[in-house]
Amino acid sequence: MFKTDEQADLLTDLDQAMETEYPIVEHFYTIQGEGAHTGRASYFIRTAGCDVNCWWCDVKESWEEEGHPKMKVKDLVQLAKESGAPFVVITGGEPLLHDLLPLTLGLKSEGLQVHIETSGSSPLSGQLDWITLSPKRFKKPTEEVFAYVDELKVVVLTNKDLKWAEDNAAKCPDGTRLLLQPEWDTPKSIELIVDYVKENPEWGISLQTHKFLKVP
Ligand code: SF4
Repeated sequence: MFKTDEQADLLTDLDQAMETEYPIVEHFYTIQGEGAHTGRASYFIRTAGCDVNCWWCDVKESWEEEGHPKMKVKDLVQLAKESGAPFVVITGGEPLLHDLLPLTLGLKSEGLQVHIETSGSSPLSGQLDWITLSPKRFKKPTEEVFAYVDELKVVVLTNKDLKWAEDNAAKCPDGTRLLLQPEWDTPKSIELIVDYVKENPEWGISLQTHKFLKVP
């Protein structure tokens, strides 16, 4: 029995949400390796498909949707729930190429917090608890995403990326965590970032600790 039509609608939506399918590159229980939640246990869901095409991308296998299995929300929710992870990180690829409402509705129905890592270049969707914006010059973020950003994480290779970081930070809400991350295969970016953060202490450094620790 439903108490109100509204609750009945929500439950119907949830039933539909659980049957929705997404192309998935991989999903696994791990430790968040970078950004503001570094070191915390989390369940990663990597959706397939990306139209940003960063030349230094380390997950190029995620660019094409084709060739990756489709998984139902109910199965992803069950696996995430069973893992014991307190939160799920939806990443890609570019996860916002998909309507994330069904997936996030399903995860939240089981009490899981939902984080996303996105370039922000496609429309925002879903019920999200934490938004990490990692803007790329190759395909800029939409203007609408900035109001919702919790963490701005900019990958740095050259001086141009520091300017890009400041341009994006100016559009984010007060209190946004501001992080610069060296590109893994560009060691000279470390010196650039260290000097910059010493001069601009509102920024911090994000490291890909999972790569140092060899945590998948
Ligand atoms: S946005 Fe992310 S997944 Fe897409 S090409 Fe850039 S680094 Fe790779």
